[in-house]
Amino acid sequence: MERRENKISKRKFIRQCAALSAGMLCLPGHGLLVESSGENQNTFRREAMFQEKTARGIMCRICPNECVLKEGELSQCRNRKVIRSVLYTLAYGNPCSVNVDPIEKKPLYHFLPGTRAFSIATAGCNLACLNCQNWAISQTGPDKTRNINLMPDKVVSECLAKNCSSIAYTYSEPVTFYEYAFDTAFLAKLAGIRNVFKSNGYINPEPLRKLCTVIDAANIDLKSFNDSTYLRLSGGKLQPVLDSLRIFRDMGVWLEITNLIIPGWTDDMDEIKKMCNWLVKNGFSNTPIHFSRFYPTYKLEQLPPTPVEVLNTAVKTARDEGLQYVYTGNVPGNELSNTKCPECGTELIVRQGYRIVANNLAGSKCSKCGKVIDGIWG
Ligand code: SF4
Repeated sequence: MERRENKISKRKFIRQCAALSAGMLCLPGHGLLVESSGENQNTFRREAMFQEKTARGIMCRICPNECVLKEGELSQCRNRKVIRSVLYTLAYGNPCSVNVDPIEKKPLYHFLPGTRAFSIATAGCNLACLNCQNWAISQTGPDKTRNINLMPDKVVSECLAKNCSSIAYTYSEPVTFYEYAFDTAFLAKLAGIRNVFKSNGYINPEPLRKLCTVIDAANIDLKSFNDSTYLRLSGGKLQPVLDSLRIFRDMGVWLEITNLIIPGWTDDMDEIKKMCNWLVKNGFSNTPIHFSRFYPTYKLEQLPPTPVEVLNTAVKTARDEGLQYVYTGNVPGNELSNTKCPECGTELIVRQGYRIVANNLAGSKCSKCGKVIDGIWG
């Protein structure tokens, strides 16, 4: 088997960034960038990272789906294709969503609160969640969406122009626009901008470790603690996500977890208890967890929204198991979205929706008892 690793040195990357800024479109190690015409838009393609030739075709090793593709075949995430025996990503420099969001929207509650994140997404996803809120862009390919031409250097300059502290790779699934996210994050880091990853965490260890060298914070969806539910709800497996959580944490990326509670699917309190117990036992007791409220959408439109009492019970269960920072999400006005000192109970950050209405932290400490509150605060 032949591997195409695309490893580059920092010096080489910086040289290439200068070339990029000068209008030469090739970034190093990823092959030629080609412009072609999509159904609605111009699309770009770049040689994919982590591809491997096998007897059955070209394998993509970015996520656990490990698609093996023959000439002309499109990947499961709909944005990778084999052209003349080389795997290309079609999701590069062509985001279909570009917005400025409060960092709280990711949600990241312990990472630069009150700042803005320049947020981008291309079309495509490696899972197929029945409850996807962004299905219109996640369950399609970049040739079917209305895109903006925005190369990595332009993302960085737009981020600076809009006075954002970070770039967020978000909305659809950034694992599937890995090359675009990686190159942009590398340039952003050189410019002193932070990078945040909002993801399903469905990624193989090797590409994830490489990604962690340029990512500062991540919010990962832990969709369920039951393998069969994971498969039926999203088409994925639980274990790779648990492995990813450990890698993010071990590589020093600030991590928060989202667990969406869907009535009849992921609202079993015994399972939530098991999940919290696993998190505590595996060293995540200081990792914030967000129990998010489900609203009927996509293929689960027939279900009711999650009752707020169920979310409140999940918060209590998580705290009882030993998790320190537990929040509800998608429940505006719920005081369980505020940050309290786990030592003395003082209300430290008060939120209204995505807005910070009070911040009583003294640096990174509780202003009353002096306990250090985990997070990246400024
Ligand atoms: S990132 Fe896409 S092409 Fe690669 S293995 Fe995952 S689903 Fe397949």
